Amino acid sequence: MSLSSESAALRHLSFAERRERAAPGARARAVEHVGVVGAGTMGSGIAIAFALGGFKVALVESSDRALDAGLARITKSIDAQVSKGRLGAAEATAAKARVQRSQTLASVCGCDLIIEAVFEDLALKRELFAQLGRHARPGAVLATNTSTLDVDAIAEPSGRIADVLGMHFFSPANVMRLIEIVRGRRTCEEALATALEVAKRLGKAGVVVGNGFGFVGNRMLYAYGREKELMLLEGAAPEQIDRALEAFGMAMGPNAVGDLAGLDVGARARKAWKSRPDDPRFFRVSDLLVEQGRLGQKSGRGFYRYCGGERRREPDPEVLELIRREAERLGVERRVICDAEIVERSILALLNEGARVLEEGIALAGADIDVIWCNGYGFPRSRGGPMFYADTLGLPEVRAAIEKYRRAQGERYWVPARLIENLAATGGRISEWGAARQAGSEARAVAS
Ligand code: NAD
Repeated sequence: MSLSSESAALRHLSFAERRERAAPGARARAVEHVGVVGAGTMGSGIAIAFALGGFKVALVESSDRALDAGLARITKSIDAQVSKGRLGAAEATAAKARVQRSQTLASVCGCDLIIEAVFEDLALKRELFAQLGRHARPGAVLATNTSTLDVDAIAEPSGRIADVLGMHFFSPANVMRLIEIVRGRRTCEEALATALEVAKRLGKAGVVVGNGFGFVGNRMLYAYGREKELMLLEGAAPEQIDRALEAFGMAMGPNAVGDLAGLDVGARARKAWKSRPDDPRFFRVSDLLVEQGRLGQKSGRGFYRYCGGERRREPDPEVLELIRREAERLGVERRVICDAEIVERSILALLNEGARVLEEGIALAGADIDVIWCNGYGFPRSRGGPMFYADTLGLPEVRAAIEKYRRAQGERYWVPARLIENLAATGGRISEWGAARQAGSEARAVAS
C-alpha cells in the first residue's frame, strides 16, 4: 500500500464520517433524558455511553437482581476508566449519578428517547413496544437495539410507528463507535434526525440503514464469514485464516471474533434466519463447534482453546480433526489453500455483498458501508473501507476476480452484483455511489 493511497483512503473516510445524513429541513427533537430498558451486556454499555455523554439515564430491568447486576457492571466499567487514567474521578462520579435506578417501565415514560435492549425475542419486544406506545410521552423517539429482528414488526404494536427506529449499537456499546440507525417503513425524518444528532453527541458514527435481515454490517458479515467457513472445510486451519486476514489489516481474524462474541449467538441468529442459503456447508463448522459445547472464550474453547484466565488463543488440534471429519462426511475435497486465496475470497465476497446491499437500498451510499465496516467490524482504515478498497483494486478487476471464482466454485455464491457490472462498464466508483436522498431512485435505476 503506498503512502498516497493510504492518505486518500483516510481522507475518504473522514469525509464519509462527516457526511450530513439527516434529510434537509428535518429537525432533531431535543433529547436530555434517555430511558434504557434491559441492563444486560448491551443495555449497561448503552447506559454508560449516555451517562458519559452528559445525558440523564433511567435504567429499567425485569427484576431487582438484574438491575443490581447491571448497575454493578456500569460502576465497575466507569471506575476502570478512572484507574486507567482515561477519566477524572469527578467526571466519573457525575456520570454515575446521572444513571437512575428505575423499578418500572413507568419511570422511563417521561424520557425523550427510550432504547430497548431486552432479550432478542420478537414477542417480548412487541409486548414492550405496545406498553411504550401506551405510556411514553408524545413525541418520544422509541428505539430498539435488535440485531436480527424486523424493526417494523417490533414497531407495529406501539401504535406510533413514525417515532420508532432501530439504534443498533455494537458491543461493547460504550467503546464501539458505530450505530446503525435503522429506518422502518414509516419512520419519520425527525426521528432519524434525532438519532443522528444523539449519535453525534455521543461521539459515535451514526449511519442510516434499511430494515433488512442483518441490516448492512451483519448481512455483509454473513458473506465474509461464509467464505472462511467454506475454506475451513476445504483445508485452511482457523489460525491460518485469522493470520492471513489480520495481515491484510483486519483488527481481528473472523474465527477469533466468533470466539469472542460467542459462537452460540451467531448459531441462534442463523437458525431464525428464514431465507438462509440451503447449503449443508453454510457455517457448518461454527454450528458443529456449538454442538460440541465449544462456544468460544466464554466456555474456554471454540475455534481455539483459551488457557488460564488469559484471553490468549491457542490452536487446537482437536478442532482440526473435527473439521477434517466433517469435510469427509460432506464430501468436500481438501487441499492446501494459500493465504492470498483466503484474503481474496473473503474480501471479494464482502465487496460483492456490499454492492447488493447498495442495489437494494439497504445501504444508501458506498461511503456509508465504509463507515460501518471501519467503525464496527475492524476493517483497516488505511484501506478506506470495503467499497473504497474495491475502487482501489479497480471494479473491472473485481468483476474479473469474481468471475474466476464463478468458474472454480460455481454460481451459488459467485455472481458479480449488477452494480459492480454497471460501474465497471461505465468507469464509476462504488465508494462514491449513492446519496441518502436519492437512494430509492438509484436502487431502482440499478435494477432496471
Ligand atoms: P443480555 O441477555 O445480556 O441482556 C438482556 C437483558 O434484558 C437482561 O438483563 C434481562 O434481564 C433484560 N430483560 C428481559 N426482559 C425484560 C423486560 N421485560 N424488561 C426489562 N428488562 C428485561 O442481552 P444483550 O446481549 O444485552 O442483548 C440485548 C439486545 O441487544 C438484543 O436484542 C440483542 O440482539 C442486541 N444486541 C446484542 C449485541 C451483543 O453483542 N450482545 C450487539 C448488538 C445488539
